[in-house]
Amino acid sequence: MKQPFNPDASGLTFDFSNRIFLITGGTSGIGLAAASMALTAGASVCIVGSTRGKGATAMNQLKQFGEKACFFQADVSKPVQCEAVIKKVAKQFKTLDVVINSAGIFRSGFIDSITEPEFDRIMDTNLKGTFFICKYALPLLRNSRHAAIINISSDAGIHGNRQCPDYTASKGAITLLTKALALDLAHENIRVNCVCPGDIITPMLEEECVKQPDQKVYLKNLTDPYPAGRLGQPEEVASVVCFLASDAASFVTGAAWPIDGGITAQ
Ligand code: NAD
Repeated sequence: MKQPFNPDASGLTFDFSNRIFLITGGTSGIGLAAASMALTAGASVCIVGSTRGKGATAMNQLKQFGEKACFFQADVSKPVQCEAVIKKVAKQFKTLDVVINSAGIFRSGFIDSITEPEFDRIMDTNLKGTFFICKYALPLLRNSRHAAIINISSDAGIHGNRQCPDYTASKGAITLLTKALALDLAHENIRVNCVCPGDIITPMLEEECVKQPDQKVYLKNLTDPYPAGRLGQPEEVASVVCFLASDAASFVTGAAWPIDGGITAQ
């Protein structure tokens, strides 16, 4: 358990030939790792992000996949932009098989310090964005024989996390939104699952880390409670996301899958 996952040496194989993926937050971290893994398995992947600069950097990292990768700019906290981005997918591909909602933001702080606009920003990005991307993607997913939605929740979507009540509430809502949609869509053969990662080394965690007065102490305190004795890598989340997107998970729906080195097991 101490060794981080090495996707090249894992022997993991998925076949996503002829499948279209939409990945919000695909411009970095977990979303970008999932995009890279799906592309490697033959999918066409639209990554969605709110800033053109990050989109260009991510596209550069995916350039080996040529036209199979594309970037659409959209701020998922605005339902009108969620609708617009799905329209672009419909125009370009006519179809959609897999939606991965990875766009998200984090902010730490006690409830006393959280203003209404900050609360709204977390909820609008994490929860409203996930909700409306699912809503507007549904007509396309209904035409797919391999339809799957995977939402990126968090260990905070399973148990309480300290000093981020708004983020925790948004992730708890994503976990139950996932289960509610799984119930409503199972008869249409659209599977809906979420993953609940613990601390994963991505730009989100790195941004939090650089704000700390002593980064070494911060990282030690973050790592110590993990039964696995380490933090996770984005590829370790991407591999479970790809499994949930694949036909190997054809009877899995409504699951909230912890990917957390055991932290929610205790
Ligand atoms: P990240 O910051 O690298 O990725 C988040 C992405 O979402 C970024 O590319 C960002 O540009 C994009 N984004 C933010 N707001 C957006 C908006 N309004 N519209 C469109 N795109 C937007 O961090 P990450 O760790 O890869 O986060 C991915 C998901 O995983 C998030 O939902 C996060 O809450 C969740 N998560 C992360 C961790 C962790 O420790 N890193 C743990 C549990 C859950």
